[in-house]
Amino acid sequence: MKLSFLSAVRRKVFNNYATLPYEVKNFISFGLSFMPNHLLLGSHFREVYRMIKQTEYLSGEILKKRREENLSRILLHANRSVDYYSVLFKQLGVPESEMLASPIHVISRIPPIDKSTIRDNYPIFLSNTINKTICDYTSTGGTSGEPFYFHINSDRSTKELAYLIDLWERVGFNLNSRRVTFRGSPIKGNKGWENDWITRERKFSSFELTDQYLGRIWPDLCRYRPDFVYAYPSTALALCQFIERSGRQLPKNIKAILVGSENIYDGQEDYIETVTRKRVFKWYGHSEKLILAGECEKSKYYHAYPQYGYVEFINEKGELASPGDFAEIVGTGFMNTVLPFIRYRTGDYCTYLGEYCPECGRHYPIFKDVRGRWTQEVLYGKKGNSICMSAINVHSDNFKNVFRYQFYQDTPGRALLKIMPQEGFAQKDKRAIEKEFNLKFNGNVVVEAVVVKQIPLTHRGKYMFIDQNTSEKLLGVS
Ligand SMILES: [Zn+2]
Repeated sequence: MKLSFLSAVRRKVFNNYATLPYEVKNFISFGLSFMPNHLLLGSHFREVYRMIKQTEYLSGEILKKRREENLSRILLHANRSVDYYSVLFKQLGVPESEMLASPIHVISRIPPIDKSTIRDNYPIFLSNTINKTICDYTSTGGTSGEPFYFHINSDRSTKELAYLIDLWERVGFNLNSRRVTFRGSPIKGNKGWENDWITRERKFSSFELTDQYLGRIWPDLCRYRPDFVYAYPSTALALCQFIERSGRQLPKNIKAILVGSENIYDGQEDYIETVTRKRVFKWYGHSEKLILAGECEKSKYYHAYPQYGYVEFINEKGELASPGDFAEIVGTGFMNTVLPFIRYRTGDYCTYLGEYCPECGRHYPIFKDVRGRWTQEVLYGKKGNSICMSAINVHSDNFKNVFRYQFYQDTPGRALLKIMPQEGFAQKDKRAIEKEFNLKFNGNVVVEAVVVKQIPLTHRGKYMFIDQNTSEKLLGVS
């Protein structure tokens, strides 16, 4: 009992660690950095990590069987404890024996859902076995502009970390590797960076990627002797543009540039690799924790972990894609038992390639060219620096009563934040959101929030997170 309580506390601390004040984080992380990794990360991490190693080169047939067992477990759990699914399975006439015998066939009969299906029917999507000590209330963040909150098991982060470590090991990562990070961390103080002793990161600002700032922090970046650069594609690009302009070089011991969380466009990856003379290593994942995929050692294609979730690729006809088809990524996660996501449309698209990579020998689903929710829209700071959408991403409670929001910018250094409220929204929410962004941008962009009745979509029906009207050009390489 005592142990499970301690374990719950550890999971909560792990998930909320990033939001602690720097002084507190620095104190905790320095103290904990002396603890052996296997104790620090806990038993869930160890179990998942071991399982990945034991299963990654299994035959396609055995992996399929394991995936079906995981699917059966989620389907049975949903049928027994989630009202939405128990009603649906009754309507479809699916008995539990079929969920056990042919779960993939059962899945194919379930209508895909998306975030609006869940948001509009939230209480009936929650498992009635919900236990507050094993779950958190989280969100997909602000990048879609329409905040989406949901419950999820609190052990997800340590489990996911086991997958990420396994992924990055393909390019030489280990738990002692040091990273220099450009991923939207708010940086306080005069140094221009913060250390995290536990994750072995030196975090730099993503809100001030000017020549002046990068020139100032460059000696500290090199002195840290980093093994990896950990960035968004767009912050890696800004870094490379600086490297090219200033004639600098990245420290020699850097093994790769790890990038994820937003689209990377044709030409950008080559550009980063040419300028840095390092490999760009990409991965794809999201807050809902349904699919996690990364490149292999030998190819540039994404490999989805079949142990993490069941991924389907649905083409424009609504059918399962054939190799070469452009398809939507649809996921059923194995991790979230509090709110099971079954056949969830991610809104992300890719080119589906097959179920096996001949280069590395893994029987994992393979795809390339991810396009979707993550774009490279940017805001411009007063010094002309660009701030990418992924760095602007927020995960706080302040957006609970917001339906949709959008930045409007026509002057570098200033932005108007349009907020379309929903029921329960109050003036204090508006002030809190305004304050949150202004703290994050730290004077680089001054944000003023306004409440509006409507935020129109573009003529293609797409939603723009940033309505950019300055004369600056979008960061990128064409
Ligand atoms: Zn491979």
